[in-house]
Amino acid sequence: MSILPQPWRAALRRVAARLLPGSCLLCAADSAAGLLCPACAADLPRLPPALCPQCGDGTTLGERCGACLKDPPAFARTLALFRYEFPVDRLIQALKYGHQLPLAAWFGAGLARDLHAADHDLVLPLPLHPSRLRTRGFNQSLEIARPVASALGVALDPILLSRTRATPPQADLPLKERARNVRGAFACAGDLGGRRILLIDDVMTTGSTLREAARILKLHGAGTITVAVAARALRHP
Ligand SMILES: [Zn+2]
Ligand SMILES: [Zn+2]
Repeated sequence: MSILPQPWRAALRRVAARLLPGSCLLCAADSAAGLLCPACAADLPRLPPALCPQCGDGTTLGERCGACLKDPPAFARTLALFRYEFPVDRLIQALKYGHQLPLAAWFGAGLARDLHAADHDLVLPLPLHPSRLRTRGFNQSLEIARPVASALGVALDPILLSRTRATPPQADLPLKERARNVRGAFACAGDLGGRRILLIDDVMTTGSTLREAARILKLHGAGTITVAVAARALRHP
């Protein structure tokens, strides 16, 4: 165990990353110009082929899941790059808490490869509450959304959707309480006039936060909403 306190360890990792730009973020092996070495990149946990087309959770044959049938989300489709488990969880933490912003560009480029510009009119990042934005210094979802929007040539609006209520982190709450925790936490600053929205976040676990954000977008006239996340936690793998 390291004797250094956490902020120092994080700072040292950032310095090391700058000194050694060609080393893999996960194993420190030679990664040439990339963030990960080819072996670590190939081993990242991918999603199984049979997924609910609407929320991206695992289903037996790729049919819509029970949760989407019972209480359909306002978004029509979910695209996820990776499964949210080791070591993708470490990459997300390195992005959010270790300020490894090149990871956001890397996730964004990966998502853009699986999306079609013609399907979307507007890219919106899942917003942070201003208090959390001040603490973190950046919104990881916006940093992932930027390269997606520029690769697709679709407009990005970082302020239209906002977070009006500071809520405890979803990860700290039991699954049952997550929907209530984010209820009424978002606002949309204008009428979307049927525009097709690409809503971007870093991680989707229960989907409660994205469900609530999409509900508000629909109330404000959104057309089809597609969710795209770097990583998806599967409840039914
Ligand atoms: Zn590696
Ligand atoms: Zn579903």
